[in-house]
Amino acid sequence: MTPARREEIFRKLAEAMPDPKTELEHTTPFELLVAVVLSAQATDKGVNLATRELYKVANTPRKIAALGVEGLEKYIKTIGLYRGKAKNVVALSNLLIEQHGGEVPRTREALEALPGVGRKTANVVLNVAFDELTIAVDTHVFRVANRTGLAPGKDPLEVELGLMKVTPKKYLRNAHHYLILHGRYTCVAKKPLCWKCPIFKPCEFPEKKEFAAMGPDAPKAAAPKTALKRKMAAAGAKKK
Ligand code: SF4
Repeated sequence: MTPARREEIFRKLAEAMPDPKTELEHTTPFELLVAVVLSAQATDKGVNLATRELYKVANTPRKIAALGVEGLEKYIKTIGLYRGKAKNVVALSNLLIEQHGGEVPRTREALEALPGVGRKTANVVLNVAFDELTIAVDTHVFRVANRTGLAPGKDPLEVELGLMKVTPKKYLRNAHHYLILHGRYTCVAKKPLCWKCPIFKPCEFPEKKEFAAMGPDAPKAAAPKTALKRKMAAAGAKKK
């Protein structure tokens, strides 16, 4: 893809989303960190429903540690994999108290040393809470980067490094939000809404015209079955 096309993609996404934000509700870096850990293989909406109640009673490492694993499980049991997540959140709260004075650290290394925190979660926290120019690659970002031709890659790290290299600097701060929201609401996994896509012209997805012709009322069964679609679906199934 040419630099001019990449520029056009980000310019159009920025026009469509002038003030993009994470959909995980939070008021502090710690609340964000916990919400991102809880969001693995779960929807932001489901996480928000749980954290709205949880944060009324415990929204700091000390309060979560005092709640304990069983106490925390009661608040997050509607979220997938909640038992493992409860253990991780209590363990990371204890570690923040012991090693970071109860604060969320600002470095990738320290973040990734926390239980339940991988590269993607660290990237979200660094970007959203601390304004760092990072790009977190989840299933949506992975799909959009591959499908459009923006930064093709076989795994999230390859896509992340590709995006970091090719994204024009002025769009880096919000690139993660543009791509995740575009993937969540327009360039969706099963039947992308190409007919109303703001980046239809620069997108290099070979079947975009077929999907565009389907329009809003196309039956799901009409979606073309292709090798690329299968690859995207498999990548999407791996999730966060
Ligand atoms: S044209 Fe279609 S495939 Fe390309 S980015 Fe838009 S929705 Fe996705």
